[in-house]
Amino acid sequence: MPRPPRALRLAPLAPLVLALLCAVPGAQAQNNAVAPTPAQVAPEVDKAYTQLMAAPAIQKLLEAVKADHDRAVEDLKMLTEIEAPPFKEQKRAEAFLARMKALGLADAKIDAEGNVVGLRKGTGNGPKLLISAHLDTVFPAGTDVKVKEHDGKLHAPGIADDTRGLSVLLSWLKVLNDNKVQTVGDLLFVANVGEEELGNLRGMKAIFRDHLDIDGMVGLEPSPDGNVLILGTASHRYEVTFKGPGGHSFGAFGQVPSAIHGMGRAIAKIAEVRTPSFPKTTFTVGTVGGGTSVNTIAPDARMAIDIRSDDMASLLETEKKILAAIDEAVVEENKRWNVGTLSASNKLIGDRPGGRTPSDSVMVEAAIRSNTTFGHKTLLRGGSTDANVPMSYGIPAIIIGSGGKSTGFHALSESIDVTDAWKGAQNSLVTVLGLVGVQGVSPALLPKRPARTR
Ligand SMILES: [Zn+2]
Repeated sequence: MPRPPRALRLAPLAPLVLALLCAVPGAQAQNNAVAPTPAQVAPEVDKAYTQLMAAPAIQKLLEAVKADHDRAVEDLKMLTEIEAPPFKEQKRAEAFLARMKALGLADAKIDAEGNVVGLRKGTGNGPKLLISAHLDTVFPAGTDVKVKEHDGKLHAPGIADDTRGLSVLLSWLKVLNDNKVQTVGDLLFVANVGEEELGNLRGMKAIFRDHLDIDGMVGLEPSPDGNVLILGTASHRYEVTFKGPGGHSFGAFGQVPSAIHGMGRAIAKIAEVRTPSFPKTTFTVGTVGGGTSVNTIAPDARMAIDIRSDDMASLLETEKKILAAIDEAVVEENKRWNVGTLSASNKLIGDRPGGRTPSDSVMVEAAIRSNTTFGHKTLLRGGSTDANVPMSYGIPAIIIGSGGKSTGFHALSESIDVTDAWKGAQNSLVTVLGLVGVQGVSPALLPKRPARTR
């Protein structure tokens, strides 16, 4: 989504405007692929998917996904109509938990952060795969979330991003249980909070803080068939405040520094910071504000800075230069008037770690092979999602779609066409089953990792 226009003055940072800046994979659709798709997958990956698709039990399971379509759409409508603004996901979490329990995960619960977590155990000694979708939407409390049907589509804010993912997780749980499919690895079902902007991935950060034995993650987000997100762009955002004594523009001249002049010096220095184009690293002073009146030496000034990179080290290097520029600017402004009364402070208002899942990893090859089975060419994408968190730990993670054609993420006009959406739910489930393996059908492909320590 393009950035919406922002008011020049910083004012109180409007949550909705900030929320609108969140990136979802679909929002990156105009971007190029972040890596070429490997032409071939490893023989063991190929073999596992051949075994899966040849197994009558799996064919029956996939038929069940199709047969569950209408019921899953009812879950989709029910969950969409429970609003879930950032930090206010609780009601939707409770509804999701109730469905999870009804569909057979009796031990599921809501954790301290607000995530719904349920473990479906494998045969033992297999890998543990986190499968997730996020509960929160960008829309503030009071938004009309009633689902409307017209033009062959379902319309409601949040219905695609990411309520479709939530309803597909529930559908998978139902069909796996109804058909008594025993996976080798464990499936950790999670409906998490805090994916959208102000949430700063708090839900996923808590999951990886509390569960040190997760071997991989497959997240569901609205995404065209065949798209696989493998890159998590990291971002840091700062609000910087300059403060001085202020004074009359004529009477106090020569005795006090200006907060606005100091900030101007900082912005001039920041504008000269150089960043690599690969890994892509960017920065901008997005908003400025401050001052009292035209004839007042400004006592205050504020700006908001966004720093992003496809590589964490590059981001930190750029951040260091920007913070140093601010300190230098304060020194220069004080020196200009021979005072020491201007100061600057900064606050980290956005913190998303980043990383990358290698395109030749089992995780990505599994998705590629599964996509091939369903007739889709794979496109490897980047973005900023829940997968940033596992990627930052080096844990293989991808974000894939789960069916349906959606448009207008983060806009009130958001909609999804669920015609044949069950095909996407099958495709993504097959990706997952190859990774964790199915008893008597195929081995678990996802390697087990040594458990992390805190
Ligand atoms: Zn999303």
